Parts: sequence; C-alpha cells; structure tokens
Amino acid sequence: MNADRVLDPVALHARLFTIDTHIDIPWPDRGDAFGPSARRVDLAKMQAGRLKAGCFAAYVPQGPRVEEAEQAAFERARAMLAAIAAMAGSRDGIQARLARSAAEIETIAREGAIAIVPAVENGYAIGTDITRLDVLLSLGARYLTLTHNGHNALGDAAIPRADLGDSKMRHGGLSDFGRAVIARMNALGMLVDVSHAAKSTMLQAIAASRSPVAATHSSVHALCPHPRNLDDEQLDALAECGGVVQVTAVPAFLRRDAKDTEVSVIDFADHIDYAVRRIGIAHVGISSDFDGGGGFHGWHDASESANLTSELLRRGYDEQAVGALWGGNFLRVMRAAEAEAGRHAQ
Ligand SMILES: [Zn+2]
Repeated sequence: MNADRVLDPVALHARLFTIDTHIDIPWPDRGDAFGPSARRVDLAKMQAGRLKAGCFAAYVPQGPRVEEAEQAAFERARAMLAAIAAMAGSRDGIQARLARSAAEIETIAREGAIAIVPAVENGYAIGTDITRLDVLLSLGARYLTLTHNGHNALGDAAIPRADLGDSKMRHGGLSDFGRAVIARMNALGMLVDVSHAAKSTMLQAIAASRSPVAATHSSVHALCPHPRNLDDEQLDALAECGGVVQVTAVPAFLRRDAKDTEVSVIDFADHIDYAVRRIGIAHVGISSDFDGGGGFHGWHDASESANLTSELLRRGYDEQAVGALWGGNFLRVMRAAEAEAGRHAQ
C-alpha cells in the first residue's frame, strides 16, 4: 500500500467542521455538576478534540405545572443562558464566541475560535407564556427542546413523571399551546428539538412545523429499545421533513443491558450506520450529551472526539460523509429554520 494514500484520521478530523449538538453545563443543583477537572467539556478539551462548535443547553428540570414553579423555571433558564454567554471570551490562548446563526457559527469556526451555541432544554422554561420564547431568543437560545422527562404545557414526554401526576395530565401528543409555540418558533427562526418528546408529540410537531426539526440527542430504538430512542417511523418522519437525528453518546441509549464501561465508539458507530442506511447520510449527526449522562470508552470527553472520525473512516465513510455527520447536516437544518423566519419578516 502506498503510505501517501493512507488517510491520517487525526489530520482529517482537524480540518472538518465539527459541532456537538448537546452539551450540559454545570449548575449547583445538578447531581452531575462535578468540579471543573471532572467536566467532560470545557474549552481546552474542545480545542484538544478539534471541536469547532458546541450547543450548550440551559436545562430546566420538569416541575409542577403551576405559575410559581413555572416562573422559577423561566428565571433559571435565563440565568443559565447568561452563564453560557459568559463562556465567550479569551482564556489560555483559546477564543470562544457566541454564535446567533448558522452563518456566524461557520465564520467563528473559520476564524479559529470555538462557537458557543446556546439552547434551552425543556419547554417548561416558558410555562404557558409564549412571549417568554422571544426573551429566550434574545438571550441567544438557538433551539428549544419541547419537553424533558415529564409532560409539560407543550406536550407529552417520552418518559412521564409519575411523581408529577403525569398519568392524569396527558395531552395525547402536542397540545394546542405546543402548536402555537412551534408556530412562534418558526417565525423566530428557532430550531424545534424533538428529543425527549413522546412519539405522538414528535410526529405531530413535525407535521405542525414549517421548518425541518432536529432530534439533538437521541439514538436508534431498533438497536436499543430505550423510550428515549427513535423508532423507524420516527426516523423516517425526520428525514421526510428534511431534519436530522443527532445520535447521542449516552451508554443506556446505545446498548441494552451493558455496563457503561462496556459501551464504546463501536456501538455509537453502529447507531450512525443504522440511521444512515435507514434515512440517508443527510439526516444523521453526532452529539455527546456530555456532562448530562453521555460518554463511553473511546469518547470519554470532548478531547477524544477524533476517535469517532477514525471509526467512521475505518467503516468506509469518506471525508465528505464524515463532515456531513459532524456538522454539515445540522447547519443545514439550522439554516432552514432561519430561512423560515426570513419569510415571516417579509
Ligand atoms: Zn436531554
């Protein structure tokens, strides 16, 4: 074999545009809010792993559907978005900048800085007040995950919360308020995230949305029957709307009955392969859910991100395909959401 023709996975990885579409941030009440040295993602680890961009989630746990608790959830989301915005700046020779659009993400990455993309996880953050969406957008949020675990005013979740009385508070999918929220998100150019949503909610959200939607951190149900994963009908619906599934690195979503330490980059790539065969390379991407439950042997933290590229190349994906998976597809979906807002503005 001619040595010149052997691809160097590390060099190829370094020149790709790469975005991890779901990363949690530490917060005082998080059980997994470990100290800085134990965090799986920080700017130094992103730089070491040649990650060019990351979506950082202001995660709001589901609480009671009453005004006082909803107000507190909204305040928490605002405080978390402020903390995410504060990641921007220059430290130890690494520059990070806040990105408000797909074009800005690309510019920031091209200029050698890390693009910080804020997001909000759980529509509970807006309670039942749709005007709060505009506030979250003004604080930088580029996507909103419709639900977390537990039904909220927007719709039903894949995993209900019995302790919050969810068995008696089902909508049967997306609520009328959820439909109004999606219409407003479309008008604002905010991407609709259907990870965590019940299958009924997800399919109805796709039907309701004028722009393609994303599942920012979900894996494949056919390979691992976890309620958070997407079955074939859900994957097909995502592709039909022009959207994307961002396969995620949570061990329990990747292999059934396996210990966390037994799950590896092989399992992750199996989920990528399945989704690509089912719905095509244009509709599949990559997320870690680092610092929110993600991480396995070979992709333990952001610094090890090139290992995924190596495994994908080993399986026969070429540079263009790996680039689509690592970021090209997600940017396309973001751009489509932004274009929808442009049509409303005219
Ligand atoms: Zn999540």
